[in-house]
Amino acid sequence: MSKIQAIRGMNDILPTQTPVWQYIEAVVRDTLRAYGFDEIRMPIVEQTDLFKRSIGEVTDIVEKEMYTFEDRNGDSLTLRPEGTAGCVRAAEEHGLLYNQTQKLWYAGPMFRHERPQKGRYRQFHQIGVECFGMPGPDIDAELIIMTARLWKRLGLTSHLELQINTLGSSADRKRYKADLVAYLQERFDSLDEDSRRRLQTNPLRVLDSKDPGTQAVLEGAPSLLDYLDEESRNHFERLLALLDGAGVSYRVNPRLVRGLDYYGKTVFEWVTTSLGAQGTVCAGGRYDGLVEQLGGKPTPGVGFAMGMERLVLLLETLQLIPATANNNADVYIVAVGGEQVEAYGLRVAEQLRDELPDLRIQMHCGGGSFKSQIKKADRSGAVVAVILGETEAEQTNASVKPLREQGDQVSVALAELSPTLRKMMQA
Ligand code: ATP
Ligand code: MG
Repeated sequence: MSKIQAIRGMNDILPTQTPVWQYIEAVVRDTLRAYGFDEIRMPIVEQTDLFKRSIGEVTDIVEKEMYTFEDRNGDSLTLRPEGTAGCVRAAEEHGLLYNQTQKLWYAGPMFRHERPQKGRYRQFHQIGVECFGMPGPDIDAELIIMTARLWKRLGLTSHLELQINTLGSSADRKRYKADLVAYLQERFDSLDEDSRRRLQTNPLRVLDSKDPGTQAVLEGAPSLLDYLDEESRNHFERLLALLDGAGVSYRVNPRLVRGLDYYGKTVFEWVTTSLGAQGTVCAGGRYDGLVEQLGGKPTPGVGFAMGMERLVLLLETLQLIPATANNNADVYIVAVGGEQVEAYGLRVAEQLRDELPDLRIQMHCGGGSFKSQIKKADRSGAVVAVILGETEAEQTNASVKPLREQGDQVSVALAELSPTLRKMMQA
């Protein structure tokens, strides 16, 4: 019979890879905690309309990337392509936005039917952050400063560039779009096919085109920065000043736009040149209109999401994964003999887990000869093997053997076992 395989673009994360994921997740979680963010967990499936109304009907995500299906009741449901919409929905539904501010984060899988390639998958994982109720550039700055600290903790500072832009108010964008469309219409023949289509549906997205012909046309295009009203300009200038003050460097990229319609004012991306075309590891911005658009009271919002797969790839490519991110055991318990030794082994293992709760104690299960068990102990990465046989079980003691350096096997009383192991671990 043929074997069933995973769905294209949806990856298994294997035991050899999970230590790296856990390492990044722990650093991110600690950083978010240190900045006063609270975790929220939303469902993976939402009503399709939630995404249509927030991300926008004529975006790539809604037009062609969503996993949408009818459930057994005939309702149209969608696997979430991103986290912001669901987070707004949940916060609003539970009254978290009423007369208060929120600093929230979430982590989990997102789903987009894109063409799978390096750094681009159909199920991928994001850690996202959303802030509500804060209209000023201070929180925009704090989000960016926090991500800068995160890169520092991960050793990525010199490998990532912050690109930043403002999309202004919706009135600014409307005036700008009219002029941009007029400019591009006159040069229609030099545009790539995608951009020609977007000119009609979502002209700002043309700015994002990677096509060399279109890029050449864009060189002379009007810039959104010249269309900002006073409030948007002040917000942007103040944000840049706050980043200067914090020592966070950036590049203003007037062509930076996002693929989701809800953004206004601040947008930013952290980009690396070390991952080829999929260089954006973290992206976000301000979405002051979104809560109202989804039926709530007008509430300012700002957030970002980072792509876990791209962070993992980047750390691997740059060999920045600390040696501690592994599955190694600390102590491996070898138990050779009959049922009595087996029982004794399990008892000793539990005692060690009581006394040394921070250590990874691997009990050998599944039997086998002394030689094969010692081989497994060696492969487990353990620093020490605790060896138990009939003699040890009878005398209630244990033999201890260093695995990573020279040294004799010694016999110790059970009461001395954990202090001895502790000493050997520290050496
Ligand atoms: P891109 O321009 O690379 O398609 P995007 O603008 O669609 O990204 P966002 O929706 O802003 O991305 O998502 C934030 C982050 O999530 C991205 O910067 C990226 O790191 C990650 N990401 C987005 N789509 C994918 C995907 N299909 N596979 C892996 N990671 C992804
Ligand atoms: Mg995309």
